[in-house]
Amino acid sequence: MVCIFCEIISGVVPVPTRGGVVPVSARGSKSSPQILYRDDLVTAFRDIHPIASTHILIVTNRHIGSVNELEPEDASLVGHMVLVAKQLAAQARIAERGYRLIVNTGAHGGQTVFHLHMHLIGGKLARYALE
Ligand code: 5GP
Ligand code: ZN
Repeated sequence: MVCIFCEIISGVVPVPTRGGVVPVSARGSKSSPQILYRDDLVTAFRDIHPIASTHILIVTNRHIGSVNELEPEDASLVGHMVLVAKQLAAQARIAERGYRLIVNTGAHGGQTVFHLHMHLIGGKLARYALE
C-alpha cells in the first residue's frame, strides 16, 4: 500500500497525471512540500490543508502506523517529536502566544494518514477550523 508520508520523506512523490516521480524541490509544491526540518528520526513539512497560519506536520522517518503501534523503545522518538515541534514553533514565532500539538489516532481520533505524525498548529486559525 502506498503511504503518502513515506513518499514525501523518501523525496519522491508519484505524479499521477504524468506517471513519473518528482524530487522534493527547494520551494516545494502541493505534492512535494518544502522540507522545513529533517534529521535521522523525523521530517517536518507544511500541511497541504492548513487550518491555521502555521500548520506543520512532524512525521517519523520510519513508517509507524499510529500511536497504537508504538513500543517502549520508541519513547525517545516521541519525546524528540515534541522537542522538534518546540523548535519549529520558536522559528515560526508562535511559541510565546501558544500553539497546539495534536496526534490524531485511529478513525475515531480523526486520523486520515496512517503514518505517525504530530500537528503543530498556531497563529491565526482558519475560519472553518472554528466551526
Ligand atoms: P491526520 O488527519 O491523519 O491527523 O492528518 C493528516 C494530515 O495530512 C491532514 O491534515 C492532511 O491535510 C495532511 N495531508 C494529507 N496528504 C498530504 C500531502 O500529500 N501533503 C501534505 N503536505 N499534507 C498532507
Ligand atoms: Zn508511511
